[in-house]
Amino acid sequence: NSSNLQGYAPICLGLEDFYIRRLYLRIQDCFGRPIASAPDAWFDLVERYSNDHNKTLKRTEKLSRCLNLGSYNYLGFAAADEYCTPRAIEALKRFSSSTCSPRVDGGTTTLHSELDDCVAKFVGKPAALVFGMGYVTNSAIIPVLIGKGGLIISDSLNHSSLVNGARGSGATIIVFQHNTPSHLEKVLREHIAEGQPRTHRPWKKIIVVVEGIYSMEGELCKLPEIVAICKKYKAYLYLDEAHSIGAVGKTGRGVCELLGVDTADVDIMMGTFTKSFGSCGGYIAGSKLTMNTSKSILLQELIQYLKYTCPAHLYGTAISPPAAQQILSAIQVLLGEDGSIRGAQKLARIRENSNFFRSELQKMGFEVLGDNDSPVMPIMLYNPSKIPAFSRECLKQNVAVVVVGFPATPLLLSRARICISASHTTEDLVRALEVISKVGDLVGIKYFPAEPKKE
Ligand code: PMP
Repeated sequence: NSSNLQGYAPICLGLEDFYIRRLYLRIQDCFGRPIASAPDAWFDLVERYSNDHNKTLKRTEKLSRCLNLGSYNYLGFAAADEYCTPRAIEALKRFSSSTCSPRVDGGTTTLHSELDDCVAKFVGKPAALVFGMGYVTNSAIIPVLIGKGGLIISDSLNHSSLVNGARGSGATIIVFQHNTPSHLEKVLREHIAEGQPRTHRPWKKIIVVVEGIYSMEGELCKLPEIVAICKKYKAYLYLDEAHSIGAVGKTGRGVCELLGVDTADVDIMMGTFTKSFGSCGGYIAGSKLTMNTSKSILLQELIQYLKYTCPAHLYGTAISPPAAQQILSAIQVLLGEDGSIRGAQKLARIRENSNFFRSELQKMGFEVLGDNDSPVMPIMLYNPSKIPAFSRECLKQNVAVVVVGFPATPLLLSRARICISASHTTEDLVRALEVISKVGDLVGIKYFPAEPKKE
């Protein structure tokens, strides 16, 4: 159906399958239209009509107000916040919008070093280093940690930034089945003997790379099992907490807190500030663990080593001061250091909202991926032609959703990816559920029988 295919514009995360891509372009040719030719099916250009990003998306096309179900603003900090915003404005006045220098060339303000320490304390590691962009944190750090002669064992659904970092490192990369500890162990067993000391094996170093919450699946990492395997085979563990830090755990400290894993057992903790903290940038937090970080036999502390050697730190401009202050303030709110209980309320709210929304969608008969407590919930569409149809019909009723297809997912695993926030009210969610239910019937994506409604 050509009208359905019109406007199929998947979010591109850099996965590639050359032949499928060509086939896809052929399909597009047949219909004689560029892929992104249905402006009514998505919202690329948005404006806000108030300060709360989760509720106030304005489609510039028709100037209609939409409820935003696509934003990573998990805790609602990307809004005018009574505690964070005045402090970010103060930082702007005091330090300006940019340091105009890398950290090592005068770009480290007092805010920056305060933030490094605050992040380390928050995530539960002795030291941390903050970078200007989350994507760059992964893609620039991995090549500093490992190189030729090393082995990266990477989850098959890892984010593009991790994939790029791994590819850029020159290490051998082996992909293990998504979130499947038994397969990870199989791969490790095939490549090293159990218990073999690090110095006696064919690899200079082995790093297992996983995510806390998988951004396209909404699934929690099977961290306890993966930690046990990494310990058994003496492999380092790199955990990307972009979607979990701030969003899950009793005090927002991410998957380790949620799943009862000791942070000392995760060697390299990475996260971004673009989601729960309503800011920008990324961090690496490390233990005092000594990693054989270079080809030389020098053993150094991880964060110190990154400060000396990581090009993104040495040559890239430091995170903007107001953004740094926003993160500091958001963490203070989460820890109750602002003197209120708003942090705890936000954390309780995102959990309640996420679990409510997920279970209601399931009751309606949708196939929803992911785990309880995760604010990321993909609704499976499967057929690519349903991507623009679902998005367009939701938009018509002023609900903005992010839809995802090839190459970000396999061709036939298209989905709508809902992100829930603490700043969504119950009324917001109930209205969104009504809209999604109607659109689900229209587009034909309720793959399971609906649960009968309780009287
Ligand atoms: N890691 C993961 C798992 C992500 O999902 C993302 C982006 N969504 C990033 C890293 C990159 O982060 P940023 O958008 O903050 O650059």
